[in-house]
Amino acid sequence: MENKKIWLSSPHMGENEYKYVTEAFDLNWIAPVGPHLNNFEKKLSEISDGKEVSALSSGTSAIHLALILLGVECGDEVLCSSFTFSASANPIVYQGAKPVFVDSELDTWNICPKYLEEAIINRLENNIKPKAIIVVHLYGMPAKMTEIITISKKYDIPIIEDAAEGLGSTYFGKPLGCLAEFGIYSFNGNKIITTSGGGALISSDKEKIKKSKFLSTQARDDFPHYEHSHIGFNYRLSNVSAAIGLGQLEVLQDRVNRRREIFDYYKRELSQIKEISFVEEIDGFYSNRWLSTILISKDSKVNREDVRLHLEKDNIEARPLWKPMHQQPIFKHCLSFGGDNSEYLFQYGLCLPSGSNMSDQDLNRIVKKIKEAFEN
Ligand SMILES: *Cc1c(COP(=O)(O)O)cnc(C)c1O
Repeated sequence: MENKKIWLSSPHMGENEYKYVTEAFDLNWIAPVGPHLNNFEKKLSEISDGKEVSALSSGTSAIHLALILLGVECGDEVLCSSFTFSASANPIVYQGAKPVFVDSELDTWNICPKYLEEAIINRLENNIKPKAIIVVHLYGMPAKMTEIITISKKYDIPIIEDAAEGLGSTYFGKPLGCLAEFGIYSFNGNKIITTSGGGALISSDKEKIKKSKFLSTQARDDFPHYEHSHIGFNYRLSNVSAAIGLGQLEVLQDRVNRRREIFDYYKRELSQIKEISFVEEIDGFYSNRWLSTILISKDSKVNREDVRLHLEKDNIEARPLWKPMHQQPIFKHCLSFGGDNSEYLFQYGLCLPSGSNMSDQDLNRIVKKIKEAFEN
């Protein structure tokens, strides 16, 4: 008989999601409007440093609206971490703008401040001022925000924090997504908490968040008939999804705690294998450890595919790290700056199963298999 499947990161419901969804049904608020949606935004704001919140249908739509609100238009350039999921960069193209990719640094695996500044200087020398910087907090690890914000201020280019993977992480005590002009979260099924699908846009700019709500509900002007002076989107979160989100917010810290415990377990158990290393938190950086990741050293006889396939044979899902955007067929023609750090990480890194609903036995099974891969 096949072993039970262990997923990379699967949804993990708490106690009250079902109750809130039932409430939404009982009240017949089955629409992208309703009390659960309002309450979800309020609760999300409370854990987002009191910022304004607009709940949306996805993290991708949140990035798209942030770009629109920053005035990104056809032909503009937007700087973006190269080492990320494609959804960080796709909305740049939705606007007809051009992504300019920036490589990672190896401490956090996130956008390298030095390369970022090099990229900006190069674009300015070419008389082009990038319209925004999309900074991704990958796998929940904060990027070096102090340095990045300094650069953003120096050149007057606003930041969108892609904290899709970073809800529950903090940077010197402040939640990720709340450190710059805009932040975005994702509540997709594989993220640390989920509404099945959903996202949010965060900002301290009240007017901008109001406009985001307007644009995300088809941009209806204030008339009894349908009057439009803007292009609208159908990007609002549904009240039913928000009801799930309300339950999930109650258990967010539990989920973070469990994911961090999982990371610690891997680190403890696998550090005896000298070919394996981990990305560590810097002082003041607190990661939700959305996914636990390992790097396998260059000169190891066992490579990341050997490990991944050995796990797969046992019905355990592991995955290579994100393939950098500047290496993706669709983005190959785009400008990119930096060295080969993200290429290196992609080649030698692996994401291990990290779901907060895994049992200790599951973890035991995974670690045993990884050790086996190195023993053969
Ligand atoms: C998941 C994710 C997104 C997109 O979020 P969706 O809600 O799936 O649209 C964007 N950026 C990163 C880094 C992600 O991991």
